[in-house]
Amino acid sequence: MSVFSHKEFDQHEQVSFFQCPQTGLRAIIAVHNTHLGPALGGCRMWAYENDEQALNDVLRLSRGMTYKSAITGLPLGGGKSVIIGDSRKIKTPELMKAMGRAVDTFAGRYIIAEDVGTTVEDMKNIHASTEHVVGIPMEDGTHGGGDPSPTTALGVYTGLKAAARLRLGKDNLQGVKVAVQGLGNVGYNLCKLLAADGAVLSVTDVQVEKLDMAKKEFGAAVVGLNEIYDVDADIFAPCALGAIINDETLPRLKAKVVAGASNNQLAEARHGDVLRGMNVLYAPDYVINAGGIITVYYEFLARKTGAAYDRQQVLDHVAKIADTVELVTKRAQQENISTAKAADCIAEQRFKGQKACKAA
Ligand code: NAD
Repeated sequence: MSVFSHKEFDQHEQVSFFQCPQTGLRAIIAVHNTHLGPALGGCRMWAYENDEQALNDVLRLSRGMTYKSAITGLPLGGGKSVIIGDSRKIKTPELMKAMGRAVDTFAGRYIIAEDVGTTVEDMKNIHASTEHVVGIPMEDGTHGGGDPSPTTALGVYTGLKAAARLRLGKDNLQGVKVAVQGLGNVGYNLCKLLAADGAVLSVTDVQVEKLDMAKKEFGAAVVGLNEIYDVDADIFAPCALGAIINDETLPRLKAKVVAGASNNQLAEARHGDVLRGMNVLYAPDYVINAGGIITVYYEFLARKTGAAYDRQQVLDHVAKIADTVELVTKRAQQENISTAKAADCIAEQRFKGQKACKAA
């Protein structure tokens, strides 16, 4: 297994491998870049088929965190960790404490949080071995930001509205048709906000009970899993899977705006150019799904300074996602590049200190 010549290796500062035979822990922590601050990013526990997949994931995800924090204006770097194994089968408090010891070796250069396969309870166990963890109740009994998903949904809603203003010329969402793929923690909360604004919703999910709820609560039209791409919508909001903007789905999309929570929506970078060619405004995923990292950052700050978690600061920062969508769209127009490239370029300028964007 190569690291330095791995296709996802991108000048990562540190990639460390950990194992603990007593607890069964096998983990990788990757710190991509700490130019702007300590690397904060979640811990994913997954039954990877092999070590190569785990390495691939941690390299890609840690890099993504650098870009997300930089474009969001947070003084944080990018990092991520993966634990190899099925969280339902091998997870124990001891294994999580061993993970905490691994995190502690970074002495604060990497701060761990929840991700797929890990929970608040796991972070509490990690906290037994290290201070460098967020997403747990605070000493004063408050829970910091708590579940980040509603804040992520608020950020997506803010970014989606900015994109609607720019592309559809709409100041509100009354009567705007939105197709939402995935009614999970973020998608369902997003639907609540959209419905309250008078948007007309079409939704899909693999879980029938969620569809029934959305139909009842928001009057949403329910469509099949594969039909969501064909819906006559003004806005497509992917909130479930990655790589859903691809050669197969692009010719089917009717929407003029793509704005959703899913990470890595573009199957390949070139699909951002195709969207641009179709005159579809793509609000880049990591720009508008940053609400979660914003709330976790303010929890980190509160923990560090001993001050109370300040919800108003979080809301003020989330509101700036609209400005970032405008900035990215303007830069894309000025430089004749996709919004995805413009976002990458602005983020790189911030964490690499580059002066100019690379040409498309
Ligand atoms: P979740 O697991 O709560 O929800 C995902 C939903 O998608 C579930 O309801 C699931 O049934 C549904 N789904 C699965 N396969 C589907 C398919 N083929 N078609 C339609 N629906 C399908 O996850 P979440 O926390 O709501 O996150 C949604 C997306 O947003 C993920 O890509 C996640 O990485 C990203 N994201 C989440 C956060 C956060 O704070 N939770 C932050 C940033 C990014």
